Amino acid sequence: MTAVVQTLPQATIAANLAAVRERIAAAAAGAGRAPDSVALVAVSKTHSAEAVEAALVAGQRIFGENRVQEAQRKFPALRQRWPDLCLHLVGPLQTNKVREAVALFDVIESVDRVRLAEALATEMARAGRRPDCFIQVNTGEEPQKAGIAPGEAGAFIADCRDRLHLPVRGLMCIPPAADDPAVHFAFLRELARRHDLQLLSMGMSGDFETAVALGATHVRIGTAIFGARPTALAAAPG
Ligand SMILES: *Cc1c(COP(=O)(O)O)cnc(C)c1O
Repeated sequence: MTAVVQTLPQATIAANLAAVRERIAAAAAGAGRAPDSVALVAVSKTHSAEAVEAALVAGQRIFGENRVQEAQRKFPALRQRWPDLCLHLVGPLQTNKVREAVALFDVIESVDRVRLAEALATEMARAGRRPDCFIQVNTGEEPQKAGIAPGEAGAFIADCRDRLHLPVRGLMCIPPAADDPAVHFAFLRELARRHDLQLLSMGMSGDFETAVALGATHVRIGTAIFGARPTALAAAPG
């Protein structure tokens, strides 16, 4: 059971969204990019369905969740009312939850190992539903963090595309908290370029402007929109 944190008032969430969108547009303009070349993924993990609804009312349509079961509790009812809602999985995916994930998510950003990629390919064929995939790269090679190791990423991308025929569209990373994120974003951009992948999911509340300057096509932002999460709860397994 995931604890649900305080839900900010609708007007606050709307104002936060407007401010974030403005900062994205400014960062894009500063990099000579069109503002609509960057998609905002509103990361609603630990926050209530009411918080998500407030964002929907404010015009937000793309959301990110990091746990299959939490997303299953919140999103099917919302999707009935907002059929154009688009849901990204941004957290690690266990192979025993692949069926639910393929049924629920439009984009899976956390493809990071062969066994998972194989399970996704099998389930997509069975279900006839093919969510877009991002390969998550552990650019900081942190042992506790999900993601394919940078040295294995090239072979893994090729395997996902050529053998498993997964709809791989881009790369995702979460830089180590202590590092300059720009180094990681630049690395991810170069890796994507080398493999002819168009999409780059990088940048969170603390570093999304840097990510936009370095080519992010998707920024994943939670705190700056929905407010703080209790870190112990957000880090708990589930
Ligand atoms: C929670 C989370 C985010 C959002 O982080 P904030 O710092 O709250 O913006 C982005 N990406 C992933 C993978 C996350 O788990």
